[in-house]
Amino acid sequence: MSQAPERSWLLAVPDAQVVAGMAPKSGSGGEGKSHRKRDRAFFVEVAAVVAMSAAGLLCPQGVGLWYRALLTGFVGIGGFVLIGAALVTLVCERQPERLQGKRRKPPLLLREVRDTTLAAWIAACFLAWPLARLWAGEQTGLVWTLAESGGGLRTFLQTGAALLVLDAWLYLKHRLLHTRLLFPFHRGHHVFRDPTALAGFAVGPVESVLTFWPLSLLAIPQAVHYAPLYFSLVVGFIWLNFYLHCGVSVRLLESTLPRLLVNTSAFHNRHHANAEVNFGEAFTIWDHVCKTREQDRRRDG
Ligand SMILES: [Zn+2]
Ligand SMILES: [Zn+2]
Repeated sequence: MSQAPERSWLLAVPDAQVVAGMAPKSGSGGEGKSHRKRDRAFFVEVAAVVAMSAAGLLCPQGVGLWYRALLTGFVGIGGFVLIGAALVTLVCERQPERLQGKRRKPPLLLREVRDTTLAAWIAACFLAWPLARLWAGEQTGLVWTLAESGGGLRTFLQTGAALLVLDAWLYLKHRLLHTRLLFPFHRGHHVFRDPTALAGFAVGPVESVLTFWPLSLLAIPQAVHYAPLYFSLVVGFIWLNFYLHCGVSVRLLESTLPRLLVNTSAFHNRHHANAEVNFGEAFTIWDHVCKTREQDRRRDG
């Protein structure tokens, strides 16, 4: 039916292939190519972690300061995310009604924690740049009063526009990660077919780089961020991500969030059950626009 060239690297990976990739290695000859692809992806992932961690050697505010900022950010981000996700998981795993029905296999909790910890390290690498500037007494993009951020209306409009742009990027990034070219860097997140909240940030280093780079914008004094609103949105996004992956639905949230075009557990859980639909991360706007919601795909046959 599709006229796209068979070998195009931009072709989306079908869900059946995602499931097949989760099966234990069979050792058959046909597997060789995909293992080579995975080895190459692993090499790029390691290179990304090394490059992000070594970049601090170039910090003009001081190498020691940057690595102290990195460790502080890592403990802060990792601790906050892992403790919050563990609490949500503890509550949700006791619920009798799960979106995908009764679990057939135990959740991959240790793998979720491992991948989240590595993602927190990459996020901290980005945060270390503005933190080092702040500790060195230099100006950053973070301001604490509305007067400094240009007034209430301007702050509100700029934040809304930035959210839309950022969400468009997150959607595009996610679609690109489902292409044959980039799926090896996203495959790990789809190992969690029926995830827990601990999988919310369990993504590989390359995907972490593509997701968390906006944290480094805080290092630019001209990129003004109104701190109370910025931190509220960051914390809100983190808790939303726990909900998207917790595996259960809360009636109140499912009836209110979709009206604001905000993503929900019921919506994102379908992406884990069928990797061909529902790519939105914070909002579902771009799934509506690009007709990639599960119901759009069903209608199109
Ligand atoms: Zn997910
Ligand atoms: Zn995905």
